[in-house]
Amino acid sequence: MANLGIAVHGGAGTLSATEMTIQTEGNYRKALEIATLAGYSILENGGNALDAIEAAVIELENEPMFNAGRGAVFTNAGIHEMDACIMEGKTLRAGAVAGVKNVRNPVSLARNVMENSNFVFLCDRGAEEFAMKLGLPFEPDEYFYTQHRRDQWLAVKDTDEVLLDHKDTRKFGTVGAVALDFHGNLAAATSTGGMTNKRYGRIGDCPIIGSGTYANNSTCAISCTGHGEYFIRAVVAHDISCLMEYKGLSLKEACQILVHDKLIKLGGEGGLIAIDGNGNIELPFNSEGMYRGWKKSGEELQTGVY
Ligand code: ASP
Repeated sequence: MANLGIAVHGGAGTLSATEMTIQTEGNYRKALEIATLAGYSILENGGNALDAIEAAVIELENEPMFNAGRGAVFTNAGIHEMDACIMEGKTLRAGAVAGVKNVRNPVSLARNVMENSNFVFLCDRGAEEFAMKLGLPFEPDEYFYTQHRRDQWLAVKDTDEVLLDHKDTRKFGTVGAVALDFHGNLAAATSTGGMTNKRYGRIGDCPIIGSGTYANNSTCAISCTGHGEYFIRAVVAHDISCLMEYKGLSLKEACQILVHDKLIKLGGEGGLIAIDGNGNIELPFNSEGMYRGWKKSGEELQTGVY
């Protein structure tokens, strides 16, 4: 039987263990389970890795607990600007969008950039115009609104402070998924509202191919979460792939180097989910926790927070 596998994340920052109630943790785990299963059931029925990760990320974008799609953080101007990326390991095709507003599922827009445009990376108005042309669903501002995100923003909006979504007591995160399908194909996707109070068109690591998201059938598929500026500078996802491709490191060894050595030396907090062509899954993080769910063929679905 072919190795199948999927992993999802809901952000590298979590409520500290002392603040987390049993019920809140249960809600997170349930949401992660639903997303993992949405993707895994596609893989199990012979579907491809791209469909699986898109389905998983859509579940997480639609869940207001996470900082992506509905529930995205507020910018300094009090709006929601979202970034997303998707990549296919077999062909190295990729699609990304940055700073998009009102698009219900930015991950699907990224996929359309990959499959239905001549481009790789679209931003802002142009990306929205493309989404409109495709007839993708848009939502009014109220759809994205959540009181806790607004409170986070109000606390810092008159300052220069830029908050990672998990830098206060309400630590909800960016989302992502990676998968290996029946045909041995890998894929990765990441979606986020970025950082609270961001301005000047700030773009994080998530939509930057090779930094927050990467997939290559000869190595691995990766989706990152954390303080994006550091992940951009360390080119985290592609660096892991290079360590495997050029130095022959295992997925585990390569992930360890990036998350527990390189990023720490730079001061970068966060984590990632990764899967290789044999179905090995790694979920390293250097933050207090990372919301995560995963399932491999022949094994039970698991979720984790700390
Ligand atoms: N990496 C995201 C960004 O910097 C934030 C996060 O993962 O929570 O935009």
